[in-house]
This record gives sequence, C-alpha cells and structure tokens, in this order.
Amino acid sequence: MPLMSGNLIKNLFAGPVTRPYPVAKRRSFPRARAQLLYNPTGCTYCGICANICPANAIQMKEDRESLRINRTYDSFACIYCARCIEFCPNGALKMGVEHLEPTDRKAVMRTAGRA
Ligand code: SF4
Ligand code: SF4
Repeated sequence: MPLMSGNLIKNLFAGPVTRPYPVAKRRSFPRARAQLLYNPTGCTYCGICANICPANAIQMKEDRESLRINRTYDSFACIYCARCIEFCPNGALKMGVEHLEPTDRKAVMRTAGRA
C-alpha cells in the first residue's frame, strides 16, 4: 500500500507520458523514409519511375492533343520503397525524413512536361 501511494502521488504530478502530436513532434530519424520529394525541373518525363513503382503511386499519361505528358503522384498509395529514387536517371526524386502532416484529404501531385 505505501508503494502504491507513492506511485499514485508521483503520477499525479508527472506530466503526460505521450507526446501531444502534432504540436510536439518527434525528431526524425536520419534515414527515415517519410516523404518522396520530387523536383519537376530535373524531370524529363521518361516514365521509368511510373513503370517500376510497385504500388502504382506514380502514373504517366500522354495527352496527344496538347503533346504533353501528365505525371501524377499519389502519396496515399506510395509505400516509400524508394525504388523510383534508385532508378530515376536524373536524380529528380529523393527521400525526405519529415513526415507529411496528417490529413483526411487525398492530394495527388500533378505535373506536366513535353511529350
Ligand atoms: S524517372 Fe525521374 S526523370 Fe523519369 S519521369 Fe520519373 S522522376 Fe522524371
Ligand atoms: S517510393 Fe516506391 S511506392 Fe513510392 S512512388 Fe516510389 S516506387 Fe512507388
């Protein structure tokens, strides 16, 4: 009983053991796979990333009227395997260590380049 009372008193005055996310964020691990960063200016729209993506998170579609290639990236479908980074011949993709903000809205990144 005295031990229990000691713990009870200690816990009454101790702060919460959980982190109040997203106000207080944990520091990222240096090699975390948290966010796929894309540099559209370095991209040649070759389509390799879309072809090797196992989750179909990147898609390329050719618009024959405007002669443009539309590229979409769905971060909700991405499994952060980093294959696209490994195979991109132009270094247009890299992995970020900061996790995306929590959201209930699916946002698809769209860019377009010349066919
Ligand atoms: S592999 Fe690289 S250069 Fe090719 S479409 Fe993907 S991001 Fe662009
Ligand atoms: S990290 Fe993996 S799942 Fe995500 S877009 Fe690249 S290849 Fe696809």
